[in-house]
Amino acid sequence: MVRAIVATEDKRAQVIDKEIRPIKANEALLDMEVCGVCHTDLHVKNQDFGDVTGRTLGHEGIGIVKEVGADVTSLKVGDRASVAWFFEGCGHCEYCTTGRETFCRQVKNAGYTADGGMADQCIVTADYAVKVPDGLSSEAASSITCAGVTCYKAIKVANCKPGDWILISGLGGLGNLALQYAKNVFNLKVIAVDINDGQLEFAKKYGADLTINPLHENVGERVQAEVGGAQAAVITAVAKSAFNQAVDSLKAGGRAVAVGLPSEAMDLSIPRLVLDGIEVIGSLVGTRQDLVEAFQFGAEGKVVPQCELRRPEEINDIFDEMNAGEIRGRMVLDFRNKD
Ligand SMILES: [Zn+2]
Ligand SMILES: [Zn+2]
Repeated sequence: MVRAIVATEDKRAQVIDKEIRPIKANEALLDMEVCGVCHTDLHVKNQDFGDVTGRTLGHEGIGIVKEVGADVTSLKVGDRASVAWFFEGCGHCEYCTTGRETFCRQVKNAGYTADGGMADQCIVTADYAVKVPDGLSSEAASSITCAGVTCYKAIKVANCKPGDWILISGLGGLGNLALQYAKNVFNLKVIAVDINDGQLEFAKKYGADLTINPLHENVGERVQAEVGGAQAAVITAVAKSAFNQAVDSLKAGGRAVAVGLPSEAMDLSIPRLVLDGIEVIGSLVGTRQDLVEAFQFGAEGKVVPQCELRRPEEINDIFDEMNAGEIRGRMVLDFRNKD
């Protein structure tokens, strides 16, 4: 029996004692160290993606390998490894074999269609658990496993070259990491856009070259006037207006990368797309290789997530704080204390 946080029928989370089955030949058993709490966990426990009562939540998990199955060669006992949203692909479809494995139609997601990392122990498909490099703390690694790699991938998808201007819309948990990857890894110039002046001040401290609050000025006009338009935009904000502002801010040939998931549709001027060759594209988490790279930049100190350690028993408080918009940085559940 292990302690595990599961989704309940009444849309709460509950800490229970749960049986853990023996591992199969291609699996590994992790002694969990930490697991971050993500907005996606909130959606899962609220049954926004369907009822998964009894499922162990969590997809920002980091644990130490305790046991490996007979066929496992990618991990050994004592390694630290991730439990990520991209938990497993089929391995042989057109997406899996062409570097786009997160779009696999048979994908399994930790904490949703597979038991996740919010537990004392977690079983992973060994080839899909990415090793954490030395020099990166488990709490920092947990944030990179979801938020970090999502931003890193989105900036890759933005397809910029060093010195280009990129607009980052929404400077919360995701956006702050996007800013750090953009500045410190990709050597881009960053325009930070947020309706919260506090977040913009914070963004300045992390090196934003230009900050704009859309409540006070027109984002597209300011960006076009000041820098001649941005080469790309990464939108982590969850408001339709942010998507429209991002497109308005692009220069000809620019690319808008959608990461945030507002439920509305965006407005898109077809003449603007055609006449200015604008591209709009979505980006979903990252592949295993993206995560290897995102971890490495974290280990080199180029990207520093802000985390706060919390007890697993506080999970419902954390969800309440999330609902109230009170969370700053990443809340990370600490499973190292097993008493
Ligand atoms: Zn997440
Ligand atoms: Zn596949």
